[in-house]
Amino acid sequence: MIMTVLGPVDPDQLGFTLPHEHIMVDFAGAATAGPHRYDRDEVVRTMEPHLRSAADAGVRSFVDCSPMYLARDPVVLRELARRTGVHIVTNTGQYKEPYLPEETFALSADALADQWIAEWTDGIESTDVRPGFIKTAVNPVPLAETQQKIITAAALTSIATGMTIGTHTCRGVPALQILKLLDHHGVAPGKWIFIHAHQESDIGLLKLVARSGCWIELDGIGAATDESILSSLLQLLDAGFESQIMLSHDAGWYSVGEPGGGDVKPYTYLSTRFIPLLRDFGLSQASIHALTVTNPARAFTIDPV
Ligand SMILES: [Zn+2]
Repeated sequence: MIMTVLGPVDPDQLGFTLPHEHIMVDFAGAATAGPHRYDRDEVVRTMEPHLRSAADAGVRSFVDCSPMYLARDPVVLRELARRTGVHIVTNTGQYKEPYLPEETFALSADALADQWIAEWTDGIESTDVRPGFIKTAVNPVPLAETQQKIITAAALTSIATGMTIGTHTCRGVPALQILKLLDHHGVAPGKWIFIHAHQESDIGLLKLVARSGCWIELDGIGAATDESILSSLLQLLDAGFESQIMLSHDAGWYSVGEPGGGDVKPYTYLSTRFIPLLRDFGLSQASIHALTVTNPARAFTIDPV
């Protein structure tokens, strides 16, 4: 199954999916961020038209990647899912320094995992909204001790719940370090998403990471140049990695603290501009379906444990 903010759905129901976007982000820091900093109704009012535009462009499912302490709000996401009919998936897990609360530095990996597993079991922040994957992040190599602890906690949570882990990674070297750490804890590469993989310009290194069997997320569509994403994508496809690649914008979002949420970037570039470009480059409908429908449905499937 896939766990959405409105409950479980069959992976076949996911359809065209954006695997990495944001409804709302607050970079104020863990000590400051929280629902007291925004008006939920205003966020919903501001973001609903953007989600509707995405739906009009064919989007059926939307993975929200804002982690806890960066304005992950299950109430806002649930309301938007109810209003638009778009499947929305949220997450458990924690981001990276300097967006971590003090307690994260003191807690063990087991204790962090217990908190995240409790969100899976009981719901997030006294709602019935459950996470659909584990969102983590690392800074550039070498992985700091706290980041290794977070990846370890993610591994423990994945094993206990069946949820996939996604890590803001950006480069191939930390990707390999993460894969090694996950392997040590018994998590298969197919349960890990290499987020922001398009930022790795060394295609040899990108292929080396892909050879592990992990998910390669090229999620800067519309932000990075079409040429740079196309170059990575076409080379990965040529090398036979079609069944591991996902495409998204990393767009949005209502910026907490800015008047009216600031400048929101739309979720439509992939549908309206990039996919037609892929067709121009000769990509078949079957390949486009794999990248945008089949792969996200497989990547976010929660295996029974
Ligand atoms: Zn993001």
